[in-house]
Amino acid sequence: MQTWDRFKAIQKKLKAYSLALNIASWDSNTEAPKKCFPYRAEMLSIISGESFALETSPEYVGAVEAMYEARENLSAQDREEVIQAKRTLDKILKIPKDVYTDYVKLLNMSQRIWEDAKENDDYDLFKPYLEKIVATQKQLVTYRHDTSDPYNVLLDDFEAGMSMEKYDAFFDAIKTELVPFVKEVLAARPNKKPAFIEAFYDKADQKRFVEKLMAIFQYDTDRGLLKESVHPFTWNTHSQDVRFTVRYLENFVFSSIFAAIHELGHALYEMNIAEALDTTNLNTGTSMGIHESQSRFYENIIGRDKAFWSKHYQALQDMFPKQLSDVSLDDFYLGINWVEESCIRVEADELTYPLHILIRYEMERAIFNDGIDVETLPKLWNHKMKTYLNIEPSTASEGILQDVHWSGGAFGYFPTYALGSAYAAQFYDTMQKDLDFTALLEAGDLKPINDWLKDKIHQFGKLKSPEQLLLDVTGEPFNPQYYIRYLKEKYRALYLKG
Ligand code: ZN
Repeated sequence: MQTWDRFKAIQKKLKAYSLALNIASWDSNTEAPKKCFPYRAEMLSIISGESFALETSPEYVGAVEAMYEARENLSAQDREEVIQAKRTLDKILKIPKDVYTDYVKLLNMSQRIWEDAKENDDYDLFKPYLEKIVATQKQLVTYRHDTSDPYNVLLDDFEAGMSMEKYDAFFDAIKTELVPFVKEVLAARPNKKPAFIEAFYDKADQKRFVEKLMAIFQYDTDRGLLKESVHPFTWNTHSQDVRFTVRYLENFVFSSIFAAIHELGHALYEMNIAEALDTTNLNTGTSMGIHESQSRFYENIIGRDKAFWSKHYQALQDMFPKQLSDVSLDDFYLGINWVEESCIRVEADELTYPLHILIRYEMERAIFNDGIDVETLPKLWNHKMKTYLNIEPSTASEGILQDVHWSGGAFGYFPTYALGSAYAAQFYDTMQKDLDFTALLEAGDLKPINDWLKDKIHQFGKLKSPEQLLLDVTGEPFNPQYYIRYLKEKYRALYLKG
């Protein structure tokens, strides 16, 4: 068999394994009964073992290496496929097997310990694990790269092309421009949080409204479905099967509404990837940052815009007359964009959100680059919260222990959240030159917006890198000023107009 055919044949088998594993994981996260897990874990580990053996087999590795050597002779799409395959292999093959298995064991343990530590507000319990994870991460990087900046490698793992140099420039802009601006907004904001935000909203009605949103955003229910889970997520195997979940909090209706719009953004991205890429390893979003740019574009730029609700607020009022009939559109608009100091990142509003990420970026940088010891981390965390957000967590659970990421070894992940919001603002600036955005929202006509995103971003999957996409769509490299400007204009109008 020709090398290319061998490469494609094994790729196809790997995709078959991954389909089976993914469907099981969807089931585990949505409706599998509690007691099924021990048996399931054992069976699934057999399938993933088979998949791993195939991916690291001399036959497959040889084919990838050979195609990689000859990549200049390939078509653009084939070349990208080979580069992706090689990148994945480099991450697996260069690390000694026993080091890797020990690390997986450490992470499994750490996750459980972290849950305990968070529940019991006990940082000391988690501390030795955190220390070991960081040390191992540093060591793992040295197998793959000859570098004195391991954090740079981790940043690039989560967002190809990003580095400390680029993130420093981004977060410097956030620090110098947004930190003082947030203080100004908070000083001017009315004191009393509107009561309708935390009123009681029946769960079944919330679900009906989420289904309405699916129709409004033109989500194709022949290629996907909605379920409930503790943490909302989007799941996909290829463009014809893209599902998502939300959760319903009866005393916080915004949770289901905005999680739904957020996940719809992720889902539309995956559904709109060219079907021709389904048989390749390029059939998913190109990066964490670009994925998050799409979910946040839908959630914040569309979903928290007044023009959007000028069309749909009536439907929400009709569903919840007791809670909302006395709330004007203006008050509702203020409510969905309510800014406040808060300790918990996942509950933060659009404006203060990037400051939560700024803190995590600076913490990770201190851990990896300045070698700060784990003992002093909670103090540093609280100090940064006070400096940037003017609030201090009273417990470690509300502070340094709140996020799952570090217990899973995911250092370098956090910055992509803020980056996504910033990419979204840059795309938005370009989109407004092509479309009458506000008029489309007022008319309830989202199709031209969906089509624009599909045409310029979604259809390409992993065929274009994040850097290339940004350049092709907006005509310039990443520029954080669009984000700063977008936030300042929006929140100045909301809070500082007087
Ligand atoms: Zn997301």
